Amino acid sequence: MRNFFLTFLVLSFALPAHAEEPEWCRKLPRPAYAKLERVAIADNWFEVYKIRPGVFAIYEPHQFEEVISYLILGSDRALLFDTGMGIGNIKAVVDKLTHLPVIVLNSHTHNDHVGDNWRFENIYAMDTDFTRTSARGSRADAQAELASGSVCGALPAGFDAKDYSTKPFHVSHWLHDGETIALGGRTVKVIATPGHTPDAIALLDEKNGLLFTGDSFYLGPIYLYRPETDLDAYVASMQRLAALTPRLHLLLPSHNSPVADPSYLPKVLMAIQKVQRGEVKPVITDGKHEYVFEDFSFLMK
Ligand SMILES: [Zn+2]
Repeated sequence: MRNFFLTFLVLSFALPAHAEEPEWCRKLPRPAYAKLERVAIADNWFEVYKIRPGVFAIYEPHQFEEVISYLILGSDRALLFDTGMGIGNIKAVVDKLTHLPVIVLNSHTHNDHVGDNWRFENIYAMDTDFTRTSARGSRADAQAELASGSVCGALPAGFDAKDYSTKPFHVSHWLHDGETIALGGRTVKVIATPGHTPDAIALLDEKNGLLFTGDSFYLGPIYLYRPETDLDAYVASMQRLAALTPRLHLLLPSHNSPVADPSYLPKVLMAIQKVQRGEVKPVITDGKHEYVFEDFSFLMK
């Protein structure tokens, strides 16, 4: 028995750390994906799912953010809602899915959503100082995404981890709350939802009852701890989004799972208001306060 344990110990120390899959990664795939229509693509970093006619989720399951970008097609133009981590080449994937001219618009300008902006010509962005700062690029947040336990499986061939940074990008058109973008047969409306960041937006495709929620809502821990986060603004934004619920068929969030029921919006609003009133006891997770509800939580300082 003792020998067995010794052998086990020696073996487990002899294995390189990366041979152990991180815990988040062992839980994948998330159950929601089994019901989605997968689109075969020749790429090992991204997975593509057709969520609705002309709406594709481009998912990055090999990095713990599990970020999701969306390609939304009209008859004349396509809109790419976020460009992901910038670890794989999302433009190559988009070019396979559509030949339409592509507008890039970000749910907000955190590094994990603007990583491949630099590869695109036509970028619409919210007219905020935070956006202008993000557009200059940065290295620290990108490097932090590669910390031990953050990547599951192999990084794309040719990817240089030491060189990984968010590259600067050029904004071609500045947007404001309430503006609409006509794609041909489909119009999307920009809804400013400051809170998570000052430039956070949701995108509403009213005709089809679709709301792309960005990082204001997804199933999982919602990050509200960064210095650029404004909790009062977040609550006001969730109030705006929750009011849309009766007109919605589907939420398409920017992390974890690309489909969620609109009934989550009023639940999130009630939950964050309870937190704001001090009625919820947090648990400490990685030195942060986590307020846990069913299917989602708020991660705060
Ligand atoms: Zn974010």
